[in-house]
Amino acid sequence: MKQRPVRGTHDIFGNEILKFNKITQCVRDIADRSSFNELKTPIFEFSSLFSKPLGEQSDVVLKEMYTFEDRNNEFLTLRPEYTTPMIRAAISNNFLNDLPCKLYGFGPMFRRERPQKGRYRQFNQINFEIFGSNDPYSDVELIYLANCILKKLLPDLNLKLNLNTLGKKEELNKYKEKLNKYFNDNKEKLSDESKEKINNNPLRILDSKNENDERISRLAPLITEFLSKESKDHFVEIKNSLTQLEIPFVENANLVRGLDYYCHTVFEFKTDLLGSQDTVLGGGRYDGLISILGGADLPGVGWAAGIERLSLLMQDIKKEVNDIHIAIIDKQYKLNLIQLTNYLNINKFTFYWNYKYNLKKSLSKANEMNAKFIIIIGDETFKKELYSIKDLTTGEQIELSLENIKKFINDKS
Ligand code: ATP
Ligand code: MG
Repeated sequence: MKQRPVRGTHDIFGNEILKFNKITQCVRDIADRSSFNELKTPIFEFSSLFSKPLGEQSDVVLKEMYTFEDRNNEFLTLRPEYTTPMIRAAISNNFLNDLPCKLYGFGPMFRRERPQKGRYRQFNQINFEIFGSNDPYSDVELIYLANCILKKLLPDLNLKLNLNTLGKKEELNKYKEKLNKYFNDNKEKLSDESKEKINNNPLRILDSKNENDERISRLAPLITEFLSKESKDHFVEIKNSLTQLEIPFVENANLVRGLDYYCHTVFEFKTDLLGSQDTVLGGGRYDGLISILGGADLPGVGWAAGIERLSLLMQDIKKEVNDIHIAIIDKQYKLNLIQLTNYLNINKFTFYWNYKYNLKKSLSKANEMNAKFIIIIGDETFKKELYSIKDLTTGEQIELSLENIKKFINDKS
């Protein structure tokens, strides 16, 4: 039987790895410039880190976590998201003594979902978080950075920024009560999946993709009537700043996000190119979460983006050509080959040795790989202690000693 990866997991190679590296490099550049510190956390944590904070009734906790009992009877979970591990690490390592604390990171997450294009059981996320600031400008800074990264990676796509506010926890709870009543009154028209959410998680019905649910949700009460002046002001300041920064957005009253810990601002950058996997990047404010996890009562805001989804939307990247092909005609010259590769490496040329010991095969491989030069190590030249180098663009061939190769190539390039 042919070996295969576990359902919902995938190997990353070829063009996808080039895109992955471009994404992580772009994220690093922007994070460094804006003084976010990188944090890597373990891929598994104690299960209790996730179950309560994410919400006992959230899809992730109910159905999607990879949890196992360790040999010492502790329950561990492969991280399904990055915000809670980042907070855990900030508490464990005393980052929260110096606020605001700005962190970013990327790595694999694990959710047992139904695999589809852009939806995997092991996938990679980029995360940006700011702990310890109530300032609406911290929301704005994060949305601004998200927008910079998306513009840089997907310059031709107009991802739509959707924005909503969920108000403070008390306001949201009152809203949930009202929603609960509204959906109970319309229960018969809802999908079975949404019926189950009425009592425990009525908010999630608002972002159901079922047509009937959508119709009911369109007429549902809005959070606005429960918002205090303070909450409204926070939201207005964010919207005004985004307008000033010329970051277009749409207000979407049905945007609620999947995890329980959100309050105030929530946002998502959406595309219509990936079917129901339409969210590339999502985030929001989670005041109260840090204290739930045992830290001080500090506010927080952050976002996460799926690297695979970004990669699916990116143009293919042209692989860098190996400038110099090395053909060695006889094994007796291996020592010279090592000296040559060392020389090329030190001088930062890209090179490729094809292990063929045959000039004709080497030449055809060099052409296939679009090499610019071929260096031939063979009998004739070696009697004179020279390397034969051919410019594959012009056909010019010349014999050179090792130390003159750099100048020759640079003059031609
Ligand atoms: P979705 O609505 O697509 O399920 P989500 O709300 O569950 O997304 P978040 O928890 O906010 O997603 O995660 C942030 C980002 O991580 C998503 O916008 C998406 O790009 C990516 N992501 C989430 N789940 C998956 C998955 N199973 N496979 C690939 N990428 C994912
Ligand atoms: Mg999801």
